[in-house]
Amino acid sequence: MEEQKVFTASAESKASAKQLRLFAFLAWLIAIAGEIFAIVKLIHNETLTWLIVAIIVILALSIVGSVLWKKANRLDPTSQQDKARFFVQSQLGAIMSVLAFLPLVIFIFANKNIDGKTKGIAGAVAVIALVIAGITGIDFNPPSIEKYSKEINAQTDSVKQINMGNDLVYWTPEGNKYHLYKDCYHIKGHTGLSQGTVKQAWESKKIAELCLTCEKRAMKEHNISTITPSSLSSPTSAAADSAK
Ligand SMILES: [Zn+2]
Repeated sequence: MEEQKVFTASAESKASAKQLRLFAFLAWLIAIAGEIFAIVKLIHNETLTWLIVAIIVILALSIVGSVLWKKANRLDPTSQQDKARFFVQSQLGAIMSVLAFLPLVIFIFANKNIDGKTKGIAGAVAVIALVIAGITGIDFNPPSIEKYSKEINAQTDSVKQINMGNDLVYWTPEGNKYHLYKDCYHIKGHTGLSQGTVKQAWESKKIAELCLTCEKRAMKEHNISTITPSSLSSPTSAAADSAK
């Protein structure tokens, strides 16, 4: 049994993630401040237009927060060991969206001073915003240290199978695939070429996919017809993310 590799986010990834999380919190903070302002000042028949404007601004901020948050989680994922923590960290965007809209929805429907028409319009807009923000905030395929580790081990395995047992790959700073051959035409003559293990390619640049040209070439050179279908043909969420 070979040693199992465990994904560890690089210092650079951790720093970027920290910054993204900070901006996400800032966006959510302003969104919730906007919500409080809307509840206190804008639930009146005369200010319906401004209430709708406020809802749109809060929605935009919620979405920005969620997008930044999910991006941070992909750079620096948490562990699945602690179920509660994993849930909160993965789905914080959805939780914050509910916080940014649910109280507002309740205050609109419970308000006795606005007429039915205002209540109907404002309430409907707020509910739609709540649903949009909530869905945008949900992470349907949350990353985790365990998922990344599993994928790294599977890909390392596949690379070794077609590369004479060597876990040695090449990548460029801008690329989203790693290569088995330094002279692969995709990277040949490229400046800033890095080399290392599959794990290092993941951790330093989130590169999680083998170059197809290199894969075909290696299989041909080493007379391999099939590889054990562990990972190369089925990239996980992480691989799909990094390909964007
Ligand atoms: Zn290649």
